[in-house]
Amino acid sequence: MLPVEPPIYMTATFRDPLSDGDRSLSDRGFDLKYSREENPTVRELERRVAELDGFPDGLAFNSGMAAISSLFIWARKLLVALESYPTTVRLALDLREMGLEVELAHVEELPDRAPRGGVVFVETMTNPLLKVPDLPALADVCEERECILALDNTFASPILLRPSYYSELSVQSATKYLSGHNDVVAGVVTGYNLGELWEWRRKLGTILDPFRAYLVMRGLQTLELRVRRHSENALRVARFLEGCELVEWVSYPGLESHPQHELARRIFKGFGGVMTFKPKVRAEELIRNLKHVIPAPSLGATRSMIKPVSSTSSLPKELTSKLIGENVLRLSVGLEDPEIVVEDLRQAMEGSLRRVSLVGE
Ligand code: PLP
Repeated sequence: MLPVEPPIYMTATFRDPLSDGDRSLSDRGFDLKYSREENPTVRELERRVAELDGFPDGLAFNSGMAAISSLFIWARKLLVALESYPTTVRLALDLREMGLEVELAHVEELPDRAPRGGVVFVETMTNPLLKVPDLPALADVCEERECILALDNTFASPILLRPSYYSELSVQSATKYLSGHNDVVAGVVTGYNLGELWEWRRKLGTILDPFRAYLVMRGLQTLELRVRRHSENALRVARFLEGCELVEWVSYPGLESHPQHELARRIFKGFGGVMTFKPKVRAEELIRNLKHVIPAPSLGATRSMIKPVSSTSSLPKELTSKLIGENVLRLSVGLEDPEIVVEDLRQAMEGSLRRVSLVGE
C-alpha cells in the first residue's frame, strides 16, 4: 500500500523497541518514540517546507510564536528588528528584561548593530508597515561578523523569496500563506544545523500536532497559485487606495511610491497580499461600514481581512504610536475578484465620510 497523500499518524507514542527487538528510528537517526519529539506526519511537513525554502532541514511548531520563542531562547545573543510583528517585539523586550542578551534596532540600523557570533532577526516584509530590509547588504555583514541571519518570511513565503539565498535560518507563521485557509495555527523553522533547536522544541514542548501538519501540507499544494493571485489582487487594491482622495498614505512594496520599491523588485518575485494604509476617515468607522472584507486579526486567508493596527498592537501605546502612528489599518487581500474588495472599501470610506459630516453638522 502506498498512499498518495501523507497519512496522519495520530498517536502519542510509537512502539520502541519494535516487536522484533529492533529500534524504531526516525530519519534523523533518533528513536521514534513520542510525538512531542518527532512524528512522521510532522516530519513530512518539515521536509516539504525545507525544500521550498532551499534548506536541508526544518522543524514544525504549534504556532508561529512557538517557533519564534523557541528560536529566541536557543539564540541567546540576539538582535531583533523593532518593526517586526508587535508580539515578536514584545517577546524580545520581555526576554531582555529576564536577562537574555537581546537588543532591538530599527531595520536600517541592523547592519551596524549585528552582534558578532549572535543572531539577527528580521522580517522580509515587516508587519505591519511593509518595510523591506536590504537583505543582500545584511547578509554580507552577517557573514563578515559570523552571525546568523534569521528571516521571518511569513509575508513573502518561499514563493516570493527563497530565504536560503540570504540566510541560514528562516521562520514562518504557517497560520498565514503556507496553510492559507484560516483554519490552522502553526509555525515552521527551516535552516542548517537544527539539532540544538530540536532539543529546545523537545524541552519546551512546542512541536506541531500531526493533524495540523497534514492541513498545512494540503495548503502547500496550492501555495504558488494562491500567492501569485494574492499578489495580483493586492496590487490592484493598493493602486486604488493610492489614488483615493480619502486615503492619506498606503504602504505596499509593489507601489512605485514605496521607499524600498526598487529593492523589493530585485529581491521578491511579487509583492504579496498585505498592505497598510491610513484613511482620512476614522479607521473603526470604516471597518464597521465594510460589507465584504472581514474585520479579523490575521492574513493570508482566501477572504480579505482588515484590522486596525494602532489600537490592537500588543506593544506599549507610546511605542506603537512612534512606530506605527494613529488610525492605521492593515489589509490582507484575499483571492476574491479584487473589484469586490475595491468597491467595498470605496463604499465604506464614503459611508464613513457621510457620517463624519452628519456628525459635524
Ligand atoms: N510572524 C509574523 C510576521 C506574523 O505576522 C505573525 C502573526 O501574525 C507571527 C509571526 C506569529 O504567528 P502565529 O500567529 O502563527 O503564532
